[in-house]
Amino acid sequence: MSSPSSPSMPFAPAAPASATSRRWKPSPLICTAAAVHAGAAVALAARPGAWPWAAGGVAASHLVLTAAGLWPRSTLLGPNWTRLPEHAGQRIALTIDDGPDPEVTPRVLDLLDRHDVRATFFCIGDLARRYPRWIEAIVARGHAVENHSQRHRHTFSLSGPLVMKREIETAQRTLTEIAGVAPRFFRAPAGLRNPFLEPVLCGLGLHLASWTRRGFDTCAKDSGTVTRRLTTGLAPRDILLVHDGHAARDARGEPLVLDVLPALLRAAAERQLQWTTLRACLNEEAAEIDHADLP
Ligand SMILES: [Zn+2]
Repeated sequence: MSSPSSPSMPFAPAAPASATSRRWKPSPLICTAAAVHAGAAVALAARPGAWPWAAGGVAASHLVLTAAGLWPRSTLLGPNWTRLPEHAGQRIALTIDDGPDPEVTPRVLDLLDRHDVRATFFCIGDLARRYPRWIEAIVARGHAVENHSQRHRHTFSLSGPLVMKREIETAQRTLTEIAGVAPRFFRAPAGLRNPFLEPVLCGLGLHLASWTRRGFDTCAKDSGTVTRRLTTGLAPRDILLVHDGHAARDARGEPLVLDVLPALLRAAAERQLQWTTLRACLNEEAAEIDHADLP
């Protein structure tokens, strides 16, 4: 049923690509929060009696920052791919999280091969280490491997910058070594984050990606509901999220994603939407900028 990676690796990159760091530019919300903190310190020094106002301002800014981090599709903490860039036109992207899984990933790969569709797999470093052949197969069959942290800890969004950096950097090393090409995107476990994430991603040259719509296929009961969530309003430049790891199963014990994908691919074809990967769009964007720089 499954096809392991072929030795010729027809889609494999010629050489490992390393991500180059980006310059961190604090978002307007981060700048505002920093100004509130500075203002509170100045007010406290000038009028110690004003401490309730100063403390209230600081607490309110923390509340807003926390809320922004708990909202996966928010761009308040920094850039976040919630849709493909405009130049993607009629294309959409399928992203598949939490693998590789030795049972589900091969079946997903076979299904995508049958439809000649390329997807973006957000993989967990620890699982990549345990099942390296499926990382190799993902790349060999023309898909992209991106970074979904080393351990997929649900406490990720509570981490400080050092723990966050270690978690992402370890996954980056693991996935680059096995896939032979460096991830360009990061997706936070459960999409949850905090203000420390964007500077860490900038240092590692990674871009944050969330999604336009997701099927909640790790906790749904039936594939019809998941398919409806993904296809209702399906539009050009959408980024869709399903899972090959932690996949929910139907009454027969079959992973829902295997039922959802054929229906989703059909819906995309009916709307004349084509599939692409996040990194293909990123490369095109870079090429456009290079081209614009030419005399
Ligand atoms: Zn995940």
